Amino acid sequence: MYDFQYAKAQSVADAAARLAATDGAKILAGGMTLLPTIKLRLAKPSALIDLGTLADLKGIDVSGGNVTIKAMTRHADVMRSPAVAKAIPALVTLAGGIGDVQVRHRGTMGGSVANNDPAADYPAGCLGLGAAIVTNKREIDADAFFKALFTTALENDEIITAIRFPIPERAAYMKFKNPASRYAIVGAFVSKGPKGIRVAITGAGDSGVFRVAAMEQALTKSFTPAAIDGIAIPTDTMLSDIHASAEYRAHLIGVMVKRAVAACA
Ligand SMILES: Cc1cc2nc3c(=O)[nH]c(=O)nc-3n(C[C@H](O)[C@H](O)[C@H](O)COP(=O)(O)OP(=O)(O)OC[C@H]3O[C@@H](n4cnc5c(N)ncnc54)[C@H](O)[C@@H]3O)c2cc1C
Repeated sequence: MYDFQYAKAQSVADAAARLAATDGAKILAGGMTLLPTIKLRLAKPSALIDLGTLADLKGIDVSGGNVTIKAMTRHADVMRSPAVAKAIPALVTLAGGIGDVQVRHRGTMGGSVANNDPAADYPAGCLGLGAAIVTNKREIDADAFFKALFTTALENDEIITAIRFPIPERAAYMKFKNPASRYAIVGAFVSKGPKGIRVAITGAGDSGVFRVAAMEQALTKSFTPAAIDGIAIPTDTMLSDIHASAEYRAHLIGVMVKRAVAACA
């Protein structure tokens, strides 16, 4: 591990000011990705700015047709929230399937979304529901937020404060998981609601999470699993690694989307 400075943020504005003032500084949420990355010397932040004590970055609100989850809310809190279970049960399923007990009790909504791991679950939930990523500076539509592997629209001194999910009529998340890490080999989030029919895929794309327009169009005509029969996913943009080939991932997308549509019904 390299040396770094450590500061407990006193407020979001304090954290943003420290980020802007210190070259190479990073926000620390639950540390589930950042700390192992530093330990392995894959990252060398000059300073860590810890959001852990900011109570106003934790909590869940359901109102005005939206579920708003603050950035430092842990996966376990989403998994156990009766309000989320009532409004968007698919998010409870998603949160409950992340990693293991320790990860769910340390990992945060903001950290997961900011990190944009290509196999993470919340990016699919955000894109699949058409969420807004709320920061200390602005609101960013999920369609414009996830740019590429581990890359988002966040600026260097920008902090996610909450994610706002519009409540759908129906939604479901289906994940074919890596049995060791529980990360998605393919995860499909399908929703029907105020943002139309959306199909978002994680774990499979070589640029990270993505939507499948052909499936969305077919499901708009008929919201049934059979509607996506015959829609092939091009393999040249699929990830291929020791866990699954590009062809297998492309095949799994159809299987997981069908299961998600069936679960919506
Ligand atoms: C063993 C293991 C298994 C896992 N399995 C899964 C899985 O199945 N599915 C899944 O989706 N995830 C999985 N994860 C990831 C986990 O869910 C965490 O959410 C993720 O690692 C981010 O961790 P964190 O919230 O602690 O953020 P940190 O590690 O503290 O931060 C991650 C990154 O986000 C930045 N950041 C954090 N918060 C903010 C913010 N509010 N604004 C701006 N930038 C911010 C940090 O600077 C850093 O770059 C797994 C992790 C581990 C270690």
